[in-house]
Amino acid sequence: MKEGKKITCSFCGRDKKDTNVLIAGISGHICDNCIAQAGAIVKEEILPPKEDLMNFKLLKPKQIRAHLDEYVIGQDEAKKVLSVAVYNHYKRISHSTLTDDIEIDKSNVMLVGETGTGKTLLAKTIARLLEVPFCIADATVLTEAGYVGEDVESILSRLLQAADFDVAKAEMGIVFIDEVDKIARKSDNPSITRDVSGEGVQQALLKLLEGATVSVPPQGGRKHPEQKMVTINTQNILFICGGAFSGIEKIISKRLNTHAIGYKKVEGMEKVDEDNFLKYITPHDVRSFGLIPELIGRIPVLAHLDPLDKSALRRILTEPKNSIIKQYIKLFELDNVELSFDKGVLDFIVEKALDYKLGARGLRSICEAIMLDAMYESPSNTGTEKLKIDLKYANNKFDSTSLKKLKVA
Ligand code: ADP
Repeated sequence: MKEGKKITCSFCGRDKKDTNVLIAGISGHICDNCIAQAGAIVKEEILPPKEDLMNFKLLKPKQIRAHLDEYVIGQDEAKKVLSVAVYNHYKRISHSTLTDDIEIDKSNVMLVGETGTGKTLLAKTIARLLEVPFCIADATVLTEAGYVGEDVESILSRLLQAADFDVAKAEMGIVFIDEVDKIARKSDNPSITRDVSGEGVQQALLKLLEGATVSVPPQGGRKHPEQKMVTINTQNILFICGGAFSGIEKIISKRLNTHAIGYKKVEGMEKVDEDNFLKYITPHDVRSFGLIPELIGRIPVLAHLDPLDKSALRRILTEPKNSIIKQYIKLFELDNVELSFDKGVLDFIVEKALDYKLGARGLRSICEAIMLDAMYESPSNTGTEKLKIDLKYANNKFDSTSLKKLKVA
């Protein structure tokens, strides 16, 4: 090459000094920018072979259930229903790539249970087990296109991000839509104007659940005329919806009462458990609550979660594989401190969580309140030591925190 001759990228014409790297070929050069662009084109053009897409673990329902048992306490029905639904879902995907005779219908799931009873935890635990992209979306922020708030498509943007922008992977992911009860039609609002937060959103959501091809802004946010859209087919995405549906007990109890006076029997079966009406929930109740029938039809699997009683909370504290107490012990172990708790302390934490009606979420706040000083002090102490938390210490620390000031609801 003659001295003084300008070296430029043979693709975009950029001068060498305007590039980070300029690679020489036999009769030309290519800059880093063009390499990145070309790489993206290649990735888009050459889709991975189907077997590569199918590399999620196809576990049997009992295996899925066993895994859930390691992390989630109780919630028998929800676990069983989810294990079967997830198994069928993935079986359905593998089947559809092999043959195209009988199409197996999709089995989206609806979990109904008080807040903090493990709905999100169940969905997360399953996604982790299957190693598929997973995202959580909050139905309360969704609005119809054109209104302030997030478009329904933003749910898929999030899933795409969870899949590292690999569309094929995202198309087999799991989406957990929380607080789906909040988009129920308000029956006390007979307004004929459009119901921005209610039915309109349900209609939009229906489109996703139906297995449609949806244009998604990859970075999320509002659709923008100049933004490059990614097309996602939602046919194989499993949607798990969760909601507390507070007040639905009344609808259920009313229905049961008209069927069997005084709740004596439900269709000739056992006596009605008046402490847990959710047990008897049917799609009909969800409809009476204000979800449109088309949407309910797209979420055919319905399961309830039980409220967490004292013994469940006590087990949650210590039994799950990554229980709160195990986490604290590990945290202190990293500072060479052997942490232990008196049994009375664990009961105390549970009592407080119940008193303050904080459910399982409250267990952590209460533990934090008790452990804050110890976590502050112990990293500065040298040498291995032991720290035993007894009831007196726990009471003392708890009393000095702001949690105590919370009013019992
Ligand atoms: P929600 O039903 O509102 O989605 P989450 O699943 O987010 O509730 O539960 C909040 C937290 O409470 C979880 O992260 C977990 O630590 C704890 N938790 C709730 N229910 C259970 C349960 N059944 N088993 C174990 N931990 C639970």
